[in-house]
Amino acid sequence: MGSEIWVVAEHRGGQLRRPTLEALGAARQLATAAGAAVAAVVLGKNAGGLAAELGTHGAARVLWVDEENLDVYSSGGYTHALTELARAHKPLAIVFAASSQARDFAPRLAARLDTGLLPDCIELGWDAASGRVSAKRFINSGKALATVQVKTSPALVTTRPKAFAPAGADGAGAETVKCDLKVDAAQCYGKVKEYEQPAATKVELTEADVVVSGGRGMKGPAEFAVLEELAQVLGAAIGASRAAVDAGWREHAAQVGQTGKVVTPKLYIACGISGAIQHLVGMTNSKIIVAINKDADAPLMKLADYAVVGDLFQLVPALTQEFKRVLEK
Ligand SMILES: Cc1cc2nc3c(=O)[nH]c(=O)nc-3n(C[C@H](O)[C@H](O)[C@H](O)COP(=O)(O)OP(=O)(O)OC[C@H]3O[C@@H](n4cnc5c(N)ncnc54)[C@H](O)[C@@H]3O)c2cc1C
Repeated sequence: MGSEIWVVAEHRGGQLRRPTLEALGAARQLATAAGAAVAAVVLGKNAGGLAAELGTHGAARVLWVDEENLDVYSSGGYTHALTELARAHKPLAIVFAASSQARDFAPRLAARLDTGLLPDCIELGWDAASGRVSAKRFINSGKALATVQVKTSPALVTTRPKAFAPAGADGAGAETVKCDLKVDAAQCYGKVKEYEQPAATKVELTEADVVVSGGRGMKGPAEFAVLEELAQVLGAAIGASRAAVDAGWREHAAQVGQTGKVVTPKLYIACGISGAIQHLVGMTNSKIIVAINKDADAPLMKLADYAVVGDLFQLVPALTQEFKRVLEK
């Protein structure tokens, strides 16, 4: 059995993505508990420059595959390359940030390696008695917290956004190992054609400290303007319930919940959202929850730290003005 904990680095435009640093933070904790070393894996074309940064953030070794056909992400290419690398080097565990990308390839990788996957973990430890990764994750739509282990090796783990602190820049630098691995174009099915660039002012939903979400109570797409004003004052990202997305008022990328994104901001402001269990799954771990609803008995009003009963079209503009006044002081 190997003695390395791997982190698969996610990068775009030559930059490491923040969730990778969180996965690296989680892997460092796990490696300390298991008495193992941390290694990072970089797949891509001309992406070797990321090795130094990964070393600074605590990877002792960086395995780098430089391959034309991995210039952008593909389900098939990543699964194939990681399968080959894991079979050759036999890491103890492989950790990924629970991004859309990892949600796509991690289950495929688990199937190829005939091993188990622990998704969306919020704590990672090492069970010395069994010699296994021991992780905590929410189950039953967030109603219970389970401690789970994988009996096979390597254990595959994805880390929930914001559950782990990003790895600090206190690493000693990494040994870079260029891996000789070929990936055919035919293996690269599910290739990303294009990334939509969020507007420079737009805050990424899963990384935002403040999220302002709207539901069916918003009444229509134009009415989201009141939330946009509030979001601008707070530097917040805009989320939506599935009802608002299904109605075509917001894009699917904004959906929070079971079939949307999981967010864990410091502040979640839900406007005109009833609080169906499928929505709660996506936001219940927010630090402070504010719900604005005409119906005092809506489920989200019971869960909220602050439940404000009233018409959102009166309350939200008033809140925006008040935040403006306070923040401009
Ligand atoms: C398999 C499955 C997966 C799903 N996945 C998701 C998911 O990922 N995310 C998700 O959100 N849902 C999901 N759903 C749908 C979910 O069950 C609910 O239907 C949905 O969340 C309801 O959205 P809502 O709260 O916006 O609408 P409603 O339940 O219709 O609530 C609207 C609320 O707005 C309030 N309101 C109306 N007007 C005003 C006003 N002027 N001021 C203040 N309040 C007002 C009302 O009192 C009401 O509480 C899923 C369902 C299934 C079956």
